[in-house]
Amino acid sequence: MNVPLAKPCVGNDEFQAIKPIIDSGWLGMGAVVGQFEDGIKKYIGCRHVQAVNTGTSAIHLALEAVEVKNKEVIVPSMTYAATVQAIIAAGGIPVFVECRKDDLNIDIEDVERKITANTKVILPVHYTGKPVEMDKLQEIADGKGIIIVEDAAHAFGSEHKNNKIGSIGHVTCFSFDPIKTISCGEGGAICTTIDEVADRISSMKNLGISKNTWNRYKSDRPWLYEVIDKGYRYHMSNINAAIGIEQLKKIADFITRRRNIALKYDNSYKSINQISLLKHDFTQTVPFCYTMLIRDNMRNEFMYSMKNAGIGVSILYPPNHLQPYFKDYYTSLPTTENIFDEMVSIPLFTGMTNEQIDYVIENVVAFFK
Ligand SMILES: *Cc1c(COP(=O)(O)O)cnc(C)c1O
Repeated sequence: MNVPLAKPCVGNDEFQAIKPIIDSGWLGMGAVVGQFEDGIKKYIGCRHVQAVNTGTSAIHLALEAVEVKNKEVIVPSMTYAATVQAIIAAGGIPVFVECRKDDLNIDIEDVERKITANTKVILPVHYTGKPVEMDKLQEIADGKGIIIVEDAAHAFGSEHKNNKIGSIGHVTCFSFDPIKTISCGEGGAICTTIDEVADRISSMKNLGISKNTWNRYKSDRPWLYEVIDKGYRYHMSNINAAIGIEQLKKIADFITRRRNIALKYDNSYKSINQISLLKHDFTQTVPFCYTMLIRDNMRNEFMYSMKNAGIGVSILYPPNHLQPYFKDYYTSLPTTENIFDEMVSIPLFTGMTNEQIDYVIENVVAFFK
């Protein structure tokens, strides 16, 4: 049997949704993107939503909009390289902090230690979809002019104290790439409560062209536009939005399935001595991936054994403070480095069959026998 690490849950619904867009000839930026943004707004319960072409560009635009150039951005080393590249693209200075051993989320005490007069942003990552303690981070940021920009690529649908991630923070970035909880093919979105941030992102995602002048001229002189800010081609396309709209309709079932798989893993592995499970709360968390720690120097052997059985395994993520391109920002992070030697992620995706789940569990349990 073959079980990939992750796989998008797409099929005929998404296929049919693309057809009218092909027929219309309006493939790029258009009204369907607005419908997808409205869908997210309603689901998350946030003030503004801007859909973009990737999660990475969502973070890049969010950081440009809050102006991080030559300012420090506090970020956990335990994240995808995308987070750090987005900081550098925006001209910010990444300041790496530790994660906690029990859930691999940002270590808030380390954040406090690393705040300086030049800190502009704290950029937490809701690792595996488990929300970080937003109230504690907000308390730290308040009164210091620090803005919280969340990398919520893992956390679409997750809740913090019964509020959806995306509805509570200053600026929240989602990813809809092929392996995320819902996918647009490729895509991302920024939710924000700050009006000016939403306005800036709205024009920056389309070459800095002002939407207001666009509207002003639309009726009599539709060929005119004004460039009012720096900008990129980071908008979402109608084709990607149409896929996202279909995925959003099925989110409740996706969440139930993901939680059930993760709970089944928890129950199957909790009595294995060499495995440390992460601390979960599946009433609030929508699990994006299933990461666990393997003790006694058995992690690599475990990964080879799974690979030989056709089971997709990976390390989410090799710490960024150890990456060659980020060496200027190196700082010693012993907890993160220890976790790097022990961590492994095993298959978790909505479309996993019961046979695939059982096959993974059998192989994991058998390895430690
Ligand atoms: C997926 C991901 C991103 C980037 O999203 P893309 O849509 O792939 O560009 C950023 N951060 C984390 C933690 C991610 O998992």
